[in-house]
Amino acid sequence: MDFTDFTARFPAAETEAPFSFKRHTTVGIGGCASLGIYPPNAGQLADAVCFLKEKKIPYFVLGNGSNILVSDCGFYGTAVCTKKANAVSVQGGLLYAECGATVGKVLAVATQNGLGGLEFLAGIPATMGGILFMNAGAQNCYIQSVLQYADVLLSGRRVRLSARECGYAYKDSRFMHEDAVLLGCALRVKKSDEDSVRKKYREILKKRSVLPKGRSLGCVFKNLPDLSAGKLIEDCGLKGLRCGGAVVSEKHANFIINDSSATAEEYRSLILRIKKEVFSQTGKLLTEEIRYIGDFTDASDG
Ligand SMILES: Cc1cc2nc3c(=O)[nH]c(=O)nc-3n(C[C@H](O)[C@H](O)[C@H](O)COP(=O)(O)OP(=O)(O)OC[C@H]3O[C@@H](n4cnc5c(N)ncnc54)[C@H](O)[C@@H]3O)c2cc1C
Repeated sequence: MDFTDFTARFPAAETEAPFSFKRHTTVGIGGCASLGIYPPNAGQLADAVCFLKEKKIPYFVLGNGSNILVSDCGFYGTAVCTKKANAVSVQGGLLYAECGATVGKVLAVATQNGLGGLEFLAGIPATMGGILFMNAGAQNCYIQSVLQYADVLLSGRRVRLSARECGYAYKDSRFMHEDAVLLGCALRVKKSDEDSVRKKYREILKKRSVLPKGRSLGCVFKNLPDLSAGKLIEDCGLKGLRCGGAVVSEKHANFIINDSSATAEEYRSLILRIKKEVFSQTGKLLTEEIRYIGDFTDASDG
């Protein structure tokens, strides 16, 4: 798009053109969007999205890029980056975070204020918008369990939703199925003291230190009821399976690492091979937790 219109309307928003998903995703894969915009707060983020809608410009809301595989052709439109809309504050028994606040920042503020209850998020490389969108969590604890309310732009209208109204299920939310932009959230926190909160974080980070270190998207597949996807893939003998620069981690079979400039097509090809192999060996169908952005060729089915 001709983005002079955008910069005239939102002078405080930084822009980046072209916007490389390779540089802005944890797996380091993907083409470009013609423009990336960085609204400086949640209010301007909502206004910017309304502006793009009005101009009929396709857009994609990007958090920390830790759960998306973007096509090698990139995304035709504008990447709305939430990272600068990242204010965090404490109000009574609630911690309020704008959507672009990282888990690291939220936990740092909680710790400084001696507030517990959010420790389960430690180590997830995400923004709060992404966490709310994906119903992320760990140790059988998901964001829905501490969410008091979320502020959302729903079909262009700002609304405040309770956790129940967010339609959460395992790795699912109504936001995946509707026209929704998460703007911020209020989380319930418990009064504790800085040392105990810090100790809990350290314990959780220690447990997570066994996870693979390379460039990845975390777990690629959802677990099946009572069955870990990683264990299933491992039992099928697929650790180390490779497609170009994408390889199934030897440490954790639900992680696919980009170990040498993998393309999105290679990464996806490997995902499809795993699904096919697991299905033929066990009759069980894995489904992706990660989200695909942009166009992929069906020919990548290896
Ligand atoms: C090493 C590693 C470890 C991980 N560990 C865990 C874990 O323990 N538990 C877990 O649940 N996940 C884990 N993940 C996956 C990932 O971190 C989560 O899914 C996280 O919630 C994604 O957040 P994000 O900000 O990176 O979102 P992105 O990847 O940027 O986006 C994911 C989706 O959310 C949408 N989105 C993001 N922000 C907004 C917004 N403000 N409004 C509307 N839509 C939005 C995007 O459009 C996209 O569809 C891990 C990933 C990695 C790389």
